[in-house]
Formats: sequence, structure tokens, C-alpha cells
Amino acid sequence: MTERAQYDAAEQRAMREQRARGEMPPCPRCAVVMTERPIGGGSFGLGYARQREWLLCPSCHRSALFDVRRGTRN
Ligand SMILES: [Zn+2]
Repeated sequence: MTERAQYDAAEQRAMREQRARGEMPPCPRCAVVMTERPIGGGSFGLGYARQREWLLCPSCHRSALFDVRRGTRN
């Protein structure tokens, strides 16, 4: 029994690509829409141009963390 289950690399890549298109991806295992969690200890001005997103599945509680570039819309 694993307490900290993770998505594999292919699943994370698929979710990141869908998120980059502006869509909230579903969990590939549960087909439940992921929940976005804020990252960081409430501090602003980190100075990073890119933003990180932490998506959490409310069903299986797996999470995925990735960098998402924002600010441009096609
Ligand atoms: Zn899940």
C-alpha cells in the first residue's frame, strides 16, 4: 500500500499539456476533475516569470505539480 501515490510521467505530461491549453484536466485514473491548490506559504514577489500549479485529485489524492506559462492567450 502506497500512501503517496504519484502519476507516472506520461500522465503528468498529458495533464500539463491540457492545462497549458487553458483546460482543467481530469484525473487519468478517476476521471474526476482535478482541484487546483495554491502553492507557497502565502508570500508574494517570488520573482519567477513562470508560475507553478499544483493539481490535486479529490478522489485518489494523487497530485501533480508543474510549471505553466500564463499571460498569453491565443
Ligand atoms: Zn484520481
